Amino acid sequence: MLDNIIVWNDALESIKISVSSAIFSTWFSQTHLSSLSGTNEKYVVEVGCNSSFVKNTIETRYYGLIQDTMAKVLEKPCDLIFVVKVNPAKTEQNPIITTPLFETTKTNSEDAKNAMIKSKIRQGYSFENFAVSSSNQMAHAAAEAVAQNPGTAYNPLFIWGGVGVGKTHLMVAVGHSVLKQNPEAKVLFCTGEDFTNDIVEGIRNKTTQSFRNKYRKLGVLLIDDIQFIAGKDAVQEEFFHTFNAVTSAGGQIILTSDKPPSEISKLEERLRSRFEAGLIVDVAAPDFELRCAITQIKSAEKGIELPMDAVQMIAANIEAARKIEGFLIKLISAAKVKKSQITPEFVESLLGKGPEENSRSVRAKPSDVIDTVSKYFSIGKRVLLGSSRQRPVARPRQVLMYLLRTHLGLPLEEVGRLIGNRDHTTVMHAVEKITHLASSDVQIREDILGIKNQLRG
Ligand code: ADP
Ligand code: MG
Repeated sequence: MLDNIIVWNDALESIKISVSSAIFSTWFSQTHLSSLSGTNEKYVVEVGCNSSFVKNTIETRYYGLIQDTMAKVLEKPCDLIFVVKVNPAKTEQNPIITTPLFETTKTNSEDAKNAMIKSKIRQGYSFENFAVSSSNQMAHAAAEAVAQNPGTAYNPLFIWGGVGVGKTHLMVAVGHSVLKQNPEAKVLFCTGEDFTNDIVEGIRNKTTQSFRNKYRKLGVLLIDDIQFIAGKDAVQEEFFHTFNAVTSAGGQIILTSDKPPSEISKLEERLRSRFEAGLIVDVAAPDFELRCAITQIKSAEKGIELPMDAVQMIAANIEAARKIEGFLIKLISAAKVKKSQITPEFVESLLGKGPEENSRSVRAKPSDVIDTVSKYFSIGKRVLLGSSRQRPVARPRQVLMYLLRTHLGLPLEEVGRLIGNRDHTTVMHAVEKITHLASSDVQIREDILGIKNQLRG
């Protein structure tokens, strides 16, 4: 067993260099070497994959790469077999997975399926088909931690970010994972709007008790777009009690929003402080690599295999994750109608005409953000990007990093490069610091809004 782990780690180290980090963490991190056998001339390598989805993708796309890599690592030719198997090494670290409920017997997966329907959990949104890159890795790690230990890791988990960056997908993935481990778990997914409609109806029909029975006894409550309840007094009041009832009974709450709690106007102070007592993570716009991975995932789900240059062309031209899926649907039907192969040329011809092109938002350039921050704080650019650690310079520099990361959605590494070649961990620290400060410090909040307004103007 130990040998297998070492051999596979060697192989993964080398594969890491030849594929993008998004592809690596999406596909390869979900594999292990489940058995190694063979003769003097040849090895037979059995690659265990976490799900059939991972298996299909890896097998069709990366067979050659894995075969070559293993031949180098083992110094012998290799045949590959791909199987769906849970990684036993992970199971040991992870007591939850060893519980009998997790065994995916048929009835069990059917139970889980029914439980998901009841909980309004969309089956297509799971961790297995969620691609990870620097723009969402913190949110992803937090969501996984919560899925493993609901009610104890971070409560509430508050995920915020722009439209179509994967907030709903990630939140639903937690519900999915909890129900897969335990179909008996009381999980409910709803939107801020559903919650609002439910309580309004409850008040109107004098059925608030059944509303309370529905929400207050949950083990995991997922509310999407919680900003919707802001400014609605009766709804916020009810939500406050729901929140307290669920969390004090050990239940988990996950919320998504288009803004951090500090920037949601008309949100009751007591709710804001509850949200801030948990973990707040942001998801930035997907970078190119992540868009490639999402394009691959979505096309594999639709049963089409796109050549890599077509994938890259789509990723380079469509910025929003949500639009990728729409474009693929269009692509497939156009290919059917025209009886055409999906070649890069075909993709290009369709991209040119799409509404995507016109609606692509015009975003500020990194240099605009640097200029604006420099003017806003009256600090010369050289000093701002320089090495001074004095607070009057260091704080504006952190704000600058925060904006480059969250407003423009640049990868951590890229932000580091722009800010005087700093390390990505420095950037990560700055983003965390400002996110945290913005929730308690009015001045910082005003600075951020002020700079954003100047960028728009
Ligand atoms: P949001 O709630 O942030 O507006 P969604 O979760 O609805 O965004 O995501 C929009 C679409 O993009 C969905 O189809 C989702 O599956 C896909 N998507 C977004 N991010 C990812 C990702 N990292 N991996 C796979 N699919 C993603
Ligand atoms: Mg959403």
